Amino acid sequence: MESKPVSIYIHFPFCVKKCAYCAFFSVSGGNDEIYDAYTDAVIKRLRSIPRHRVKTVYFGGGTPTVLGAERLCRVLGAVSDTQEVEQDAEITLESNPGTVNSDDFYKLSAAGFNRLSIGLQSADDEALKVLGRIHDLKAFLDCYDGAAKYFSNISTDIIFALPYNRQSGKPSVGLHKTLEILKSIQVPHISAYSLILEENTPLSDYRNQYAFPDENGEEAEYNYICSFLSDSGYGHYEISSFALPGYESRHNIGYWKRESYIGVGPAAHSFYRNRRFSAPPDIGLFIRSADKPFMSDTDFAAAAEITADEAEEERIMLGLRTSDGVKLLGEKLKYAEKLADAGYGTIRDGIFSLNDKGFRVSNFIISGLI
Ligand code: SF4
Repeated sequence: MESKPVSIYIHFPFCVKKCAYCAFFSVSGGNDEIYDAYTDAVIKRLRSIPRHRVKTVYFGGGTPTVLGAERLCRVLGAVSDTQEVEQDAEITLESNPGTVNSDDFYKLSAAGFNRLSIGLQSADDEALKVLGRIHDLKAFLDCYDGAAKYFSNISTDIIFALPYNRQSGKPSVGLHKTLEILKSIQVPHISAYSLILEENTPLSDYRNQYAFPDENGEEAEYNYICSFLSDSGYGHYEISSFALPGYESRHNIGYWKRESYIGVGPAAHSFYRNRRFSAPPDIGLFIRSADKPFMSDTDFAAAAEITADEAEEERIMLGLRTSDGVKLLGEKLKYAEKLADAGYGTIRDGIFSLNDKGFRVSNFIISGLI
């Protein structure tokens, strides 16, 4: 067995329907035949990975739950058979309302999944229509009820800076409602992302039909989320991540701490043996090459060894995403002291960490430090 522990990410690139803003690698219109072939390919690929101690496992997508609980349980069984999954490993499953029910949650929990992510995006049904989501608020709440019977560790994603906000500089009614609902059901973990208009998505093609908040409006919404959730008892532990105490995502913390992870599936990224690489975004190729040895279908163009300079840049870039911050020395520490004096964060024992104001302009701050 390899000495270093790893995390495992498995990508499930299937969705019921593509959302209007989505640029992730996923396809709609799958069927049992393709889901079976994909499941078998993932299991074969898992068998080719060297045995490690595994700290966290993450089933992401796409929408993994379109494959159904049985296939997902088979894949998790293969992870346990082929790896030394730690007793208290965090095992997360992404899901979306309308693709999973209470019986499924029972089976998934019994199989070992212990953390669930449910996509809400907004509690405003009009906004959900604009985003092209397949669910409405009621479907989310029903899904959450079913999940909460078997899972105590649940995360949900929300999107802000949505196009229905026509009053620049003021948080929208929809955002307020979204946060109030999540607070009332005490969702333990919330990830909040600003809507990004990706090229070649339907929402981008029709951008002129909607009113989008300007930069000030987007900033006002972000600040509103930060203060609302802080007042509601959530810790802001990463730019986009908020958690009640003890519910921080261990899997994501591993990414930000530059711990090793192995990605399985087309377009899945890995950081392994000091190399970052991803598999080509091609489901057919992944299935056809499932029998090949570990790493043989990876994107070797991106698999160069990380140099010491690159590692240092990553350490700063990823560390400043989190409230733990990053240790700095010399000129960099002096620069950080100026930023702290200007109200963007704090420095303790040479460790610079950003606050909400700093998170908002973290790209600018990071580019000044690397
Ligand atoms: S459910 Fe998620 S991955 Fe699937 S199309 Fe919508 S945004 Fe993309």
